[in-house]
Amino acid sequence: MADLKSRLHGRLLLAEDEGYTQARRILNPSFDKYPALVVQPTGVADLQTAVSFARENDGLLVAVKCGGHSHSGKSTCDRGMQIDLSLFRDVRVDPYARTGRVTGGSLLGQLDHEAMAHELVVTMGTVSHTGVGGLVTGGGFGRLGRHFGLAIDNLLSVDVVTADGELVHASPTENPDLFWGVRGGGGNFGIVTSFEFRLHPMKRQVLGGQIMFPISKARDVLNLYGEYSPEQPDELQLDLVMIAPPGGPEMAGFGVCYSGEANKADAALAPVLGLGTPMMNSIGAMDYVALQRSGDTDDPRAVAGYMKSGFVTEMPKGLVDALVENFEGHPDRTTICVFQQSGGKIARVSPDATAFAQRDAMANMLPSVGWAFGSNPDPHIAWCREFWTHLEPFTHGFYANDDDGEASAENVASNYQVNLERLTDVKNRYDPKNLFRLNANIVPTV
Ligand SMILES: Cc1cc2nc3c(=O)[nH]c(=O)nc-3n(C[C@H](O)[C@H](O)[C@H](O)COP(=O)(O)OP(=O)(O)OC[C@H]3O[C@@H](n4cnc5c(N)ncnc54)[C@H](O)[C@@H]3O)c2cc1C
Repeated sequence: MADLKSRLHGRLLLAEDEGYTQARRILNPSFDKYPALVVQPTGVADLQTAVSFARENDGLLVAVKCGGHSHSGKSTCDRGMQIDLSLFRDVRVDPYARTGRVTGGSLLGQLDHEAMAHELVVTMGTVSHTGVGGLVTGGGFGRLGRHFGLAIDNLLSVDVVTADGELVHASPTENPDLFWGVRGGGGNFGIVTSFEFRLHPMKRQVLGGQIMFPISKARDVLNLYGEYSPEQPDELQLDLVMIAPPGGPEMAGFGVCYSGEANKADAALAPVLGLGTPMMNSIGAMDYVALQRSGDTDDPRAVAGYMKSGFVTEMPKGLVDALVENFEGHPDRTTICVFQQSGGKIARVSPDATAFAQRDAMANMLPSVGWAFGSNPDPHIAWCREFWTHLEPFTHGFYANDDDGEASAENVASNYQVNLERLTDVKNRYDPKNLFRLNANIVPTV
């Protein structure tokens, strides 16, 4: 252990050390785990040292933490080594080349902030303290996904520390199989130390906010979503939300981001505004970076939470019925069902062009419950599971980043769909002993 410490520029933390508790904890407090050691690398050399240490010590269990948002608790562990990337955060934007380089521990908000200073953007997720490392390696949905594609669709290259401790550059021309696999294969192949993105020009001001109707309008909201989604312009992102906070009011409506030309916004939003008189309407011109931060504090998943997820390709009557008839509030929890929209440019990429296969999805359906941490979680989790039995038959696979940790190894594997065989080849080559296994795991076959 002393030898490992002497080889690090960053920190090695044991249970008694200051900073250990903060490192081991992740966003969801339900995961209360105690790694044997935490390494906080400051750069690539430390990462190579940490990975080699784990490999040489009988393939010690490795948990990689970037933003700590893994809903199934994969970025912390009991007994093994947590590699906490929080000291490895840096974003550099080249406004002339319209590219952004992001180190592997950075948070989404850092890239949004730096890029928007030059009126440049790339798709990032909807909560600014999510990690680039986890979000991007799994795909990367967000308010600009339909407009500019998934985050992975905008990657130009990556650098990865692989299981053998080597630093490998991967791009369409160098190590293309690794580059392909990292774009949807999650943390299976190593730790990405650098992401290079293509950035797009976009005005700072967008039209954003929420429009919410009484829950009695839920059927209309869902039907509109099913009918309008396939036709709406790429510049419009509509994330459907059904919400029942403790004590109410229960509502259904949309989170909106319109990132196109301002004079076309009214036409794009007309069907939504035509739904009737809203209970709440905060849609207006706003700063894109402020919109990206707007969910940071009130996201119910910041309390103890439980979530299911699955992609839907349409909104058939049976699914509308299942949602309307079974969604219900409770005095001790917040109940939510979000549909994070897909389609647009995301859907114009072939399922095998990157490791992320579910290009035909209309939306990612995410029912969740949140409760005060410390109170009994069982009834809330049981309710969500029961709710899910009505919804799951309408799903087609799930977003690996929202894996709830309950799927069988076979389901996790088959969820990679047409890409499983090639992904297994890439895994066999770069991580044959499955050092990186706390993820939607691709099991090596060598
Ligand atoms: C509040 C909230 C909002 C969300 N919103 C969105 C959204 O808008 N769009 C969306 O697409 N997803 C969203 N997600 C899901 C999100 O993509 C995943 O939870 C993702 O894993 C978070 O990344 P992280 O770095 O914060 O997670 P962590 O828990 O730190 O890491 C999760 C896993 O990612 C891998 N990983 C992390 N860093 C690296 C790296 N540098 N190299 C290789 N692998 C790495 C590891 O396998 C690790 O176990 C959301 C989740 C939450 C909790």
